[in-house]
Order: sequence, then structure tokens, then C-alpha cells
Amino acid sequence: MKKILVSKCLLGINCRYKGDSCKNDAVCALSEKYEIIPICPEQDGGLPTPRDPAEIVNGRVISSAGRDVTAEYEKGARHALELAREHNVEFAVLKSKSPSCGCGTIYDGTFSGTLITGDGITAGLLKAMGFKVTDENSIK
Ligand code: SF4
Repeated sequence: MKKILVSKCLLGINCRYKGDSCKNDAVCALSEKYEIIPICPEQDGGLPTPRDPAEIVNGRVISSAGRDVTAEYEKGARHALELAREHNVEFAVLKSKSPSCGCGTIYDGTFSGTLITGDGITAGLLKAMGFKVTDENSIK
């Protein structure tokens, strides 16, 4: 079976900053066709759950409390890349709009709910290293 990386919160695991999940049935159903390698880059980078939300501001990841959590986000991204390479994944399905997992659209860093074009730290690293990345909205 071919393998894919998937954001854990899309699989129903309570790893989001609020301590909940955002289970997506279409994404979960991909397990019928692929072996799923679950990742949560924010937890994998050492951040607790629940945690303060964060957004990307001028290339740094800053929590709503003003803490620079870039190092944790980058550590989680490197872990995702290691898994992607180790398992030779076909592609990744990551949670939209997240500062880690967002693919193509993220929040603008003002904590006002405003979206801009861009990638989360993990999605961006995976793309830069040649992996195909998409989000749950493209899975039907
Ligand atoms: Fe973890 Fe990514 Fe889901 Fe955030 S969006 S909770 S980093 S898997």
C-alpha cells in the first residue's frame, strides 16, 4: 500500500491548540487506499495541548501571548520531512489555514481572522523538498 502523510487533527485526534480535533470523514476514508502516516508538527515540535494559537509574522511564528515559537514549529516540520522521506510518501494531506499545516492559505499574523496567500511552516518545507501537499478541501 502506498503511504501518505496526514494531519492528525483531520483524523479525529484532539491535538489542536484548543484541545479538540477537526475530523474529516473523507480524509479518514483515505485509509482504505493508503497507509496513513499521522503527524502533528506542533506537538512533534514539543508544544503542549492545549496551547496558545499562533500565526506567522514576518517569517517568525508568534503565539497570541507574544511568545516566539518558531523553533518548535521548525522542529515539527523537520520531523514531518524525516517521516515523509523515510516512508517515501506519495503526498501529504494537511489541515488548511494552520501556521504549521496550512497549504496555500494562512492567517496574516494579526489574529484578526484575515487570510493571505502562504504556507504553514511544515507545508512549506515539504513543498520545498519536492513533496506534493494538499489540504482536506481537495479530498472528496
Ligand atoms: Fe497539529 Fe497540524 Fe492539526 Fe495543527 S493543523 S493540530 S499542527 S496536525
